[in-house]
Amino acid sequence: MPVSHPVPPRDAGLFKSDAAASSGGKRSDRCLSSAPSAGRSRMSRDAVVPARIERDIEAIAACSQPATTAGYHRATFSPGWARACDYVLSKAGRLGCRSRRDAHGNLRIRPGGVSWSDRVWLCGSHLDSVPTGGKYDGVSGVVCALELLRIGVPLELVVFAEEEGTGFGTALLGSRSWVGTVSASDLSRMQNDEGRSFLEAGAAFGVDASAMNGDRLAAERYLGFVEVHPEQGASLWKQGRPIGLVTTVNGRRQFRVIMAGRSNHAGSTQMLDRHDALAGAAQAIIEIERIALDLAVESPYTVATVGRIDVGPNEINVIANSATFTVDLRAQTPGSLSRADDLVKKALQEICARRGLGLVIESIEDLPPIPMEETVIDRLEHACVALGLTVPRVPSGALHDAGIVAPYLPAAMIFVASRDGVSHDPAEYTRVEDIALAVRVIAGMLREEEPGPVTKTSR
Ligand SMILES: [Zn+2]
Repeated sequence: MPVSHPVPPRDAGLFKSDAAASSGGKRSDRCLSSAPSAGRSRMSRDAVVPARIERDIEAIAACSQPATTAGYHRATFSPGWARACDYVLSKAGRLGCRSRRDAHGNLRIRPGGVSWSDRVWLCGSHLDSVPTGGKYDGVSGVVCALELLRIGVPLELVVFAEEEGTGFGTALLGSRSWVGTVSASDLSRMQNDEGRSFLEAGAAFGVDASAMNGDRLAAERYLGFVEVHPEQGASLWKQGRPIGLVTTVNGRRQFRVIMAGRSNHAGSTQMLDRHDALAGAAQAIIEIERIALDLAVESPYTVATVGRIDVGPNEINVIANSATFTVDLRAQTPGSLSRADDLVKKALQEICARRGLGLVIESIEDLPPIPMEETVIDRLEHACVALGLTVPRVPSGALHDAGIVAPYLPAAMIFVASRDGVSHDPAEYTRVEDIALAVRVIAGMLREEEPGPVTKTSR
């Protein structure tokens, strides 16, 4: 394990010559080079090269645009993100692959000998990052798919657009638009820091509202989807396990709480006469934390977060008349999610009743837990056993593109260990050997004797 991970210089001109042939972002199908694809359709065993994967990770990190603080930033459709996509395109081009940008801003790459209508496995993740991100979030899954193409696995590599949600305010937009749960009119209202909508900023990268309906997920073209991603939690690292198989993407409920009090003079209003919205919010925030801590005893993946608060009038000598804060609840089962939701709302009502505060709770999002496909998990586990690995099954606390795709395709995720669980931070670190292991597991699963297509379990 390296002792330190210095930030490499970001050379804006990097990959310029590679990118020249592939930038421009037309949606049309094109072969990336004239390199012959013959002979690459069969997998060459044990050809996974960790050093090559590491070079990919470092090169993609170097594509990032300078951030105001330390870290790596590749906002969707930004020059840094485009350079990262071009890097992947240039490497795939040398393998004779074909590529297309779909109408939702996602980049797709298939081997030259595989047509867009052939039924293949989908594999990939995202290249966009939070403003002060690390080198591995999303990138791990993309470089896995690239390495699988290099060793001759006939799959489709996908780079989903705007996974993080820090560019346009909503996460997982590329995959959500592809499956049709976000509309073109929704995307027209979502803007980045430059005031450009997803449709406007993405136009140079294939986004086309008029073509979206004709370019949705076509299940008959895919055998399933496997996404490799850092765990972004510490459980695998603490257990000394390189990888884990994801059972469920935990459910999430988010809501906005608005507490209304009465503003008054901070000096002349007696304590018993106050209706202090900020004090009510403070009590509620501590109570929400206690509820989650209690629930986590039986259901360790139940978590609650108040991550944002706005106070009015927000003055040093005025009692607050309003406090608006967000609540983010996650849990592994529908039952534990509902229980957390019920307890939090009951606590909010009691606190406001006691303090004489008004209360409004607005739902922002309600996503149920999304199970990964059992048959694919079993096949991945079988491949792990063949490699001599015992691999734990773990839930995912974070949402991922695999969770969006899972209702439509047999989907699974392999987590690679995150050092100390750190993510969305420049200190994020995942061992390249663990990423290479995930590549071997997927290759192993696909090498097994013609198990036949996986049928999606109806739920
Ligand atoms: Zn990610």
